[in-house]
Amino acid sequence: MQKLNKKLIEITRLSSVISVLHWDMEVHMPKGGAQSRADTISYLSVLLHSKMLELNENNLLSNLYSSVDTNDFLSNDSKVIVREAWREYSKQKKLPEDFVGLLAQTTSEAHHVWWEARDKGNFKKFAPYLEKIVALKRKEALYLGYTDSPYDALLDNYEPYSTSKDLTLLLNDLKDFLIPFLASIKASKKILSHFSKKDIFPKDNQKAFNHLLSEKLGFDFTRGKIEESAHPFTTQFHPDDVRFTTRYNEKNLLDSLFSTIHEAGHALYEQGLLSKDYGSALSESISLGIHESQSRFWENVLGRGKDFWKFFHKDLKKFFPKVFNKYSVNDFYEIINNVHPSFIRTEADEVTYNIHVIIRFEIEKALIEGSIEVKDVPKVWNGKMKSYLGVVVTNDKYGVLQDVHWSSGLFGYFPTYTLGNLYSLQFWNTMRKEIKDIDVHIVKGNFKPILSWLRKKIHVHGKRFSADDLIKEVTGEALTSSYFIEYLKEKYGKLYNLASPKIKTRK
Ligand code: ZN
Repeated sequence: MQKLNKKLIEITRLSSVISVLHWDMEVHMPKGGAQSRADTISYLSVLLHSKMLELNENNLLSNLYSSVDTNDFLSNDSKVIVREAWREYSKQKKLPEDFVGLLAQTTSEAHHVWWEARDKGNFKKFAPYLEKIVALKRKEALYLGYTDSPYDALLDNYEPYSTSKDLTLLLNDLKDFLIPFLASIKASKKILSHFSKKDIFPKDNQKAFNHLLSEKLGFDFTRGKIEESAHPFTTQFHPDDVRFTTRYNEKNLLDSLFSTIHEAGHALYEQGLLSKDYGSALSESISLGIHESQSRFWENVLGRGKDFWKFFHKDLKKFFPKVFNKYSVNDFYEIINNVHPSFIRTEADEVTYNIHVIIRFEIEKALIEGSIEVKDVPKVWNGKMKSYLGVVVTNDKYGVLQDVHWSSGLFGYFPTYTLGNLYSLQFWNTMRKEIKDIDVHIVKGNFKPILSWLRKKIHVHGKRFSADDLIKEVTGEALTSSYFIEYLKEKYGKLYNLASPKIKTRK
């Protein structure tokens, strides 16, 4: 175990080097650095791959793994470390070194082509790169192996132990609810409050407010930092060095605000992993779905709730007095919960958001399974946008080119966003029962009991549980879409007077 742990620490240090390079690429690097950075990251990815293979030098890992169920000398924690190291090692072993290098190189190049193609709304420019990536990802699925669908092999990279069969059931359930629910909201004709186009939010004040908010939620600035990037994200080099980004637009407070709360949610999870376990699976997040459950919990369940703003409204007034003297807590609650089908996933409300994800899931699964080809993607995309959301896409910039994921080779990633939503509501349902007077704590801006609950129930465990086991352990049942559906029904039913159609609508 000592030998294995030493090797695992080495791997973790190397992968934090790659994370620093990615972080720098998104936050500080001049455009001219792109090619050399792609080469460096590709080189280090190959090195990391070979370090992973060295885990089994002299059969070190396979000997440990073969005795994991019978060996009385191994502690339970060591068994987790061995199990997860074996899982990762077996995957890496199946991928030839030149394949790993080629994939890293191709996606780095494609990423930059995607930027330009997106700016110009030119799918044809990006298509040849997407074709290369899809071919490589199909190949990766073959290398990794699968039972039902090649998509499962890729999904497993982000949501370990999950299958597209289970996922399809969950997402179809959700889709069957969301599409008619959205129609009933549209039919209600109720118009919620919204900001005026003249409302301006100075950047410095947004920054100061975001800082105050993140600190209040529990983000530790002695072990973390917030910076700016075109696409907000969170990264961790160590539980004691967690970074996240947001972006600013003086005409749009909500973009930066909700990106900040969302990323802070991810960052709180990363800061909640234990430093003492650094380098092993005990200090790693379980899955992207569980990660996303943390960000979405803070962003949506709390951050788009009224109680949250009963506390922070005074701060909004302090930082943006001209604007917030006009809008009460109730107004702001409506402003942040407007349901409005739109083109862009990242700007979508809670009701339409998952429809965006479902569209991507259906398309990427079909691409990997080979039932559609890259050239057909814009047409399929636009067709689904129209039939599910009623939105007509006329420019691929606001359609198929909007997301970075496919250009980075991230197939199987999108559904984890929706899994996060489902997990977050199921956790919330239990948390509300277990934390006494939780609503009072929120109104008072006391988030400590909530963060402690998340730390104790989720963060400190690292990868000890699979996502499936964790949700059962914490909530007593397997993942279901019903808590999320109930939440939407209750919240948006009230906001849009869906339950009481006789109430007059306000224009
Ligand atoms: Zn996220």
